Amino acid sequence: MRSLTLVFLAVVGMAGCGGERDLAMASKGEHAMNDGIQKSDAEWREELTAEEYHVLREKGTERAFTGAYHDEKTPGVYKCAGCGEPLFSSEAKFDSGTGWPSYYQPVSDEAVMTETDTSYGMRRTEVMCRKCGGHLGHVFEDGPKPTGLRYCINSVSLDLAPKGES
Ligand SMILES: [Zn+2]
Repeated sequence: MRSLTLVFLAVVGMAGCGGERDLAMASKGEHAMNDGIQKSDAEWREELTAEEYHVLREKGTERAFTGAYHDEKTPGVYKCAGCGEPLFSSEAKFDSGTGWPSYYQPVSDEAVMTETDTSYGMRRTEVMCRKCGGHLGHVFEDGPKPTGLRYCINSVSLDLAPKGES
C-alpha cells in the first residue's frame, strides 16, 4: 500500500515539472527585441561569404568598379544579401560614375535606416537594412531628381532578383 502511494506522488511530480518547463519557454520568446533579425556573429559568419560578412557586418566597402552591379541594367529588385528584404528597385538606379551601384531612393522609407558615420575623418550618413541591420553603404545629397539623394551601395550587400523571377 505504501509503495502505491509513492508511485502516485512520483507521477504527479513529473507532470508538475513538465508544466513549469512550458512556462519558462513561453516567457523566453518575449525577449526578442524587435521584429528584425537577431543573429549571433557566429551565425552570420556561417551564412555569409567572407566578402559579404566583411561589408554587411563589419561595415566594409568593396573597391570601386569591382562589384557585380555598378553597371547592371537588368530590370528587377535588389534585395538584401543578408536577409532577402527588397531594398532598391532598378527603376531608381542611375549611373553615378562612382563605380558603385547608385539609387536615388529605396523601395520604401521602411526598408532602410540611416545613421551618422564619422569614421575615416568624414561625416557621412550610413545606410543599413532595417530588417537585419546589415551595412549597405552611404547616402549623399548630390543625387539626381526627384529626391536629390544618392544611395551609394555595395554590390556585395545586394542580390538582384530580375523582373519576372522571384
Ligand atoms: Zn537585410
